[in-house]
Amino acid sequence: MKKPLVFISLIFLILLLIVIYEHDKIDEIDVYKEYIEEKQDQEEDKEEIFTQRRQDMVINQLQGRDITDPKVLQAMLTVPRHKFVDEHIRESAYNDYPLPIGEGQTISQPYIVALMTQLLDLKGEEKVLEIGTGSGYQAAVLAEIVKEVYTVEIYESLSKKSEKLIKDLGYKNIHFKIGDGYYGWEEYTPYDAIIVTCAPDHVPPPLIQQIREDGGRMVIPVGGIWMVQTLMKIEKIKGEVKSKGIIGVRFVPMIGHSR
Ligand code: SAH
Repeated sequence: MKKPLVFISLIFLILLLIVIYEHDKIDEIDVYKEYIEEKQDQEEDKEEIFTQRRQDMVINQLQGRDITDPKVLQAMLTVPRHKFVDEHIRESAYNDYPLPIGEGQTISQPYIVALMTQLLDLKGEEKVLEIGTGSGYQAAVLAEIVKEVYTVEIYESLSKKSEKLIKDLGYKNIHFKIGDGYYGWEEYTPYDAIIVTCAPDHVPPPLIQQIREDGGRMVIPVGGIWMVQTLMKIEKIKGEVKSKGIIGVRFVPMIGHSR
């Protein structure tokens, strides 16, 4: 064979190899794209299922009982509860019971979250303090309704995890503090309302002090570890404190000062 011919054949061969290689790469990209799209479809399907379950939860567990406040129902319909629990128990997120969230703590049953929120009698402009951030679910429900939410958690790990999720979900009106909630959060007092989601054996006096003198209210479970606790609603009217028991409940104990 003549030299130029060998040279041209060689060039041709190299070009052919390049084309085959690039084509394979395109195939790989296509396969990857398909995989991503399939995954996205699956995620969307899952989200649709969770949305459906959330609607069923609101109809059966909340409206089916005594939750009537439209703001509370709307908030419970909006907050993606399944994102506040670990992946392996996500399927149970909308069931009628509490679920574990780590550190031996639990996220309350949907009905109890709704009932406590409804008892706070919120209009929309309030500043609310929550004691016991846990997963951040209750804080998110409150943040859907009111102006500002302040939340205190004694376990750093839970507070940090919840703060990250809340930021990822786009809430800008929830403020986090790590500390013993027995003492409330002095800096932003007075609060229009306080919600306590762990049970002390007596109502912490600092919390009573931190609600507004006229019209301030608090919802709090009170009772010993082995006793039935009572969900109490406390109201301050012109400085005078009134309280009443609502129902028997079972919350994790408030640790720190109160134990
Ligand atoms: N509201 C939470 C559930 C709370 S479980 C949610 O929606 O997920 C009760 C939480 O109270 C736990 O996270 C527990 O660590 C916290 N806790 C217990 N004692 C506390 C204290 N003294 N101060 C602040 N948080 C406390």
